[in-house]
Amino acid sequence: MFTDTPPRSKDRTGFFESDRIKTLDLPLDAQLLPEIAKNIAAAMQTGKTTEVRVACAEFLSQASRFYQVPKCGVRVLAARPLKGREWVTELFGDYDPTTMLIRLWMRTARKKEITSFGTFLSTLCHEFCHHLDYHLFKFSDSWHTRGFYERTAVLYHHARETPYKRLFWAPVAGGRWRIDWPRTNRGG
Ligand SMILES: [Zn+2]
Repeated sequence: MFTDTPPRSKDRTGFFESDRIKTLDLPLDAQLLPEIAKNIAAAMQTGKTTEVRVACAEFLSQASRFYQVPKCGVRVLAARPLKGREWVTELFGDYDPTTMLIRLWMRTARKKEITSFGTFLSTLCHEFCHHLDYHLFKFSDSWHTRGFYERTAVLYHHARETPYKRLFWAPVAGGRWRIDWPRTNRGG
């Protein structure tokens, strides 16, 4: 995973603020999102996109209420559209800031392989964090910064009830960063 290149424009301040914010408040009711996440997993077992959509909508509705942001819509598709609207690197979903719509797909476009629950939930959290960037943090854009990935990981591990792992980063050219997986997996 790579971060975006810092913008040259006036957006730089927002970009570096997004980079610095590494955590996210979580609901006091520690069971709320994990219970819904389990419903998503169960719905995925049925293979029916309508059931998955209902569970995802409930997840987003509760999360939006907790963060006090407008509700975002969600659409679950069987397979990835051939042409993505948003960031091409996102294999299993996208978020449209204009319509506040999250789209998720259960299969890859080419190989038609089914997405694992972990990847699917992680994508849902990722797209919802784009929504939070605009409506909670009020950034002018939603960049993939180190902070963005950390916030996504905080939400994902909370919902999945897995221990949060601190992410370690290595610099790459152009002011970008990549996750140092060996160090992250070792825990430092
Ligand atoms: Zn993204």
